[in-house]
Amino acid sequence: MEKARSHIPVLAKQVIEILAPKPGGIFVDCTVGLGGHSAELLARLLPKGRLIGIDFDPASIAIASKRLAKVPRAKGRFEIHQNNFAALPNILAEAGVEKVDGILADLGVSSPQIDDPDRGFSYRQKGPLDMRMDPARGQSAAALINRLSEKELAEAFLQFGDETDAPLIAQLIVDRRKIKPIETTQELTAVVCQARRFTLERAAGAKLHPAARTFQALRILVNREMPNLERLLAIAPQLLKPGGIVAIISFHSGEDRRVKKGFKAGFDDGLYSEIAWEPLFADEDEIRANSRARSAKLRWAKKAGPAA
Ligand code: SAH
Repeated sequence: MEKARSHIPVLAKQVIEILAPKPGGIFVDCTVGLGGHSAELLARLLPKGRLIGIDFDPASIAIASKRLAKVPRAKGRFEIHQNNFAALPNILAEAGVEKVDGILADLGVSSPQIDDPDRGFSYRQKGPLDMRMDPARGQSAAALINRLSEKELAEAFLQFGDETDAPLIAQLIVDRRKIKPIETTQELTAVVCQARRFTLERAAGAKLHPAARTFQALRILVNREMPNLERLLAIAPQLLKPGGIVAIISFHSGEDRRVKKGFKAGFDDGLYSEIAWEPLFADEDEIRANSRARSAKLRWAKKAGPAA
């Protein structure tokens, strides 16, 4: 559900095997986060190669920049753009690059984002109900919770959280906000628990917190995660060199469905010469070391070569 990441990048071995970065290559990491995957890629592109990183979140970029700067001989070989990966064509134009050898996206949120109560991602910690990965852009979760109709809220909780109690939760939210706007994570957690008939004590001990699905759905909505993913899937084939690879790690069914469909459509249209027909998962050892790898699924697609 609400997923965080340890400092170990998810499916790192498989990502490197599939993307096969080589010295001199140009790669894009659409979701730099803490720079885990980026550092692995960058080290293999040197000397001469380039890593173009993107992240919404200035706080993550600050951490990743330091990490990448420690990669030997990396100076001048990487850059990180604070932007939405949906703007990839513009970002590449800005970087003076036309086409790339590989594109990686490791979707969702990072652990520092979840762990910081002020970001408002966590149902376990009190904070403002914000959830914006880019704190300077878009509407906060509180703004959406207090503005969207009951129907829109219920649809989002169902579609992005697979929350079967979505109508009950949406109804109680709308009742509550008539009295007073919902402004903190704690207030939303309390409303969701009440709608789902959980006491806060029982909720705290539950294997899956009763508010987890609602928070996940809201996060996806706030950050427009599905439209951004759809856009990335649409533009990736145009930005890859022949033989270039795009690899995407997703964490829930809605994302994986879109990735699968997008790659299949590209294959059917002849844009991709090969795609992963089945997703790759983390093995037992990785899941044991990093429980958050449990729901990760990796899919890839290879850009078709030039017509003979
Ligand atoms: N692979 C990273 C972890 C990525 S966590 C590592 O090894 O450390 C996912 C990151 O993607 C978060 O930092 C989040 O801010 C970013 N993100 C999610 N959607 C994004 C988008 N549409 N554009 C840019 N960054 C995005």
